Amino acid sequence: MVASLAGARRIVVKIGSALLVDSATGEVRGDWLRGLAADLADLRARGADVIVVSSGSIALGRSVLGLAPPLSLEQSQAAAAVGQIRLAEAYGAALGPLGLTTAQVLLTLDDSEDRRRYLNMRATFETLLALGAIPVVNENDTVATDEIRFGDNDRLAAQVAAMAGAEACVLLSDVDGLYTANPNLDPNARHLPEVSDITPEIAAMAGEGVSGLSKGGMITKLMAARTATEAGCALAITLGGDRPLSALAAGARATWFLPKDDPQTARKRWIGSMKPRGTVAVDEGAARALAQGKSLLPAGVTFVGGRFGRGEPVTIEGPDGRAMGQGLIRYTAEEARLIKGLRSGDIAAALGYPGRAALIHRDDMVI
Ligand code: GLU
Repeated sequence: MVASLAGARRIVVKIGSALLVDSATGEVRGDWLRGLAADLADLRARGADVIVVSSGSIALGRSVLGLAPPLSLEQSQAAAAVGQIRLAEAYGAALGPLGLTTAQVLLTLDDSEDRRRYLNMRATFETLLALGAIPVVNENDTVATDEIRFGDNDRLAAQVAAMAGAEACVLLSDVDGLYTANPNLDPNARHLPEVSDITPEIAAMAGEGVSGLSKGGMITKLMAARTATEAGCALAITLGGDRPLSALAAGARATWFLPKDDPQTARKRWIGSMKPRGTVAVDEGAARALAQGKSLLPAGVTFVGGRFGRGEPVTIEGPDGRAMGQGLIRYTAEEARLIKGLRSGDIAAALGYPGRAALIHRDDMVI
């Protein structure tokens, strides 16, 4: 498993408000951001996909609007609406001169909990990354009220890493990792460079250290680490100093939480663990193609059973009537019945709108 930046092909980097925004002036810390941008450009240059999860909209908007803390929920949402523009501009200005394209992605918790939106989101990230853009993600604070929030960007970053199949997720922070006790209070506190299991003892080591502008303390970072590692992604907590990713690659102090599987294996395990909502039976040719790791096309489907929505798990049945796998289907049961047996060119006419080529994509399938 990857426990360094060097081996990771896809990397999520989370930037907290306290790093991006100068607490005294309420302005973007331009020098720091340019240093980070140079690090991101280096990662891109060696072929890695990079996704940034950045906080700072509320902190930036608050100073523009002249709002003094504590902010009401409505004020935070208004501040986020103002500050998010500044935030996106700041990334655009830092990345643009290095030849990198910035993409803004705003998410709410619903987007990852609703299967259909989750698959759409995955597809959009894949497309952006394939086009060489750097998605800069934040929670859509203007519409997210408390009960529908990720709440903090540590966990948002981990969710994004899981969704995008990243191998590494780096939380840039004002601490250089996890200690056996609070290092500010306990002189005997020991730094932990690697954690392979988030045991109750490890959880107990995380105090509730919350720094001025940011939401996430060590506890939310541990929750993020759990989400990421369960999805096969290593997660690092390290200091957000100058050129923080070069520093990390050069061995700067950090805590790495290690996954047990790689992202593909973890995702297949996740898909395999779901309760199927329906069945699609496939013919001889499709069964052979699936066994070779291909996607399932409507042409190979002979029967569709059950009621399911887009993105839900279904059993794949071979021509002998036996279950041969499971996958997340990209059409509803009604749509799947309409297009079963059809060649790709005939799908649009049967549905009345253009659909996706694969009924179940090979990445969404375990055979
Ligand atoms: N989404 C919030 C912002 O951009 C920050 C949440 C967090 O820092 O965890 O201001």
